[in-house]
Amino acid sequence: MNSIASILKKDEFTSEDIVKLLSISEPESLEELRIAAEKVLLKYRGPSVYFRGLVEFSNICTSDCYYCGIRKSNSQVKRYLISKEQIIDGALWCAQQGYGSIVLQSGERQDSAFTDFITDTVRTIKNVTRSENLPGGLGITLCVGEQTRQTYQKFFDAGAHRYLLRIETSDKELFSSIHPPAQTFDSRVKCLQTLKEIGFLVGTGVMIGLPGQTPEHLANDILFFKNIGVDMIGMGPFIVHEQTPFSIYKDEQEGQLESHFLNSLKMIAVTRMVLKDINIAATTALQALKHDGREMGLKFGANVVMPQLTPTEFKKQYMLYEGKPCIDENAEQCKGCLSRRIQSVGRSVAINLWGDRRAVHKV
Ligand code: SAH
Repeated sequence: MNSIASILKKDEFTSEDIVKLLSISEPESLEELRIAAEKVLLKYRGPSVYFRGLVEFSNICTSDCYYCGIRKSNSQVKRYLISKEQIIDGALWCAQQGYGSIVLQSGERQDSAFTDFITDTVRTIKNVTRSENLPGGLGITLCVGEQTRQTYQKFFDAGAHRYLLRIETSDKELFSSIHPPAQTFDSRVKCLQTLKEIGFLVGTGVMIGLPGQTPEHLANDILFFKNIGVDMIGMGPFIVHEQTPFSIYKDEQEGQLESHFLNSLKMIAVTRMVLKDINIAATTALQALKHDGREMGLKFGANVVMPQLTPTEFKKQYMLYEGKPCIDENAEQCKGCLSRRIQSVGRSVAINLWGDRRAVHKV
């Protein structure tokens, strides 16, 4: 038996095992990894794919992450905040389609006008989406950055039960090389812990292909996910945006996109092997690099997809990276396209279900 096949037979993985799996380059070994990850997915979570309708409701941001297209210092972005009514319309549409959940994502703001807006919107979504088909209303995921404990608690009490906050990289040094000094690794970890203590299902993730990132960093990222006990993962390739300080990596990235894409698939598969029953998203950034990137993500062990609900007029202003796909499509087109993509890989979309790995007690 080759060494990859013998690692794939294990139930627990060492850091060395993970580095070896992430370093796979031969197509046969990659296929062995894919099949093993798919088997773990089917055993622990079954064939269902869960839809989470994604509303990028504001691009106003007080953070200045060196890699991100909507960073505060990018003066070329037209800033917006979608009205509460438009978000509610999106939520009702989601519920009517049988999507069990919605994700509200935005740039980062800590002022009370903004956090109160979110609390109020979450409460209203819950009230208007409860039905016979969906007694608990839409499952609500928030992805609105670092906030205080009190604010997180308010969001939870209003009815949100999942929170996504990517660690971006679990390496402290690498973290400080991609963020300004005001944003710290320790503060990000503290937020993840606080979210867990409050009772949220917590999602995190990393970017793959960051300048200076090694297979060892990525292996440690997976161990980090395991150690903090995450429920969900969203990760994908880092893609240069021209209007950011990281545009200096544009030329370097040209020749590396294929390997970033492959590394992203390997990260999904190995994370599935190590963490087994969590939810893993096939992210839009995968599709930005390859037209069938999200289907590939599903084949390598992902089980969540986030169809776009952001009104078309705002999508072009929410460019975190270049080449973001589907920015001209409306929600209806996006839904049809995604359902076909999911069927094409032999899986099916779950209807009217939250699809969490474990129940969260919500009133
Ligand atoms: N402000 C919120 C959410 C918006 S950004 C937050 O901090 O959680 C959502 C994710 O997009 C980030 O966590 C980051 O991992 C990803 N992202 C940002 N810029 C990117 C880029 N250039 N390439 C790939 N992913 C990027």
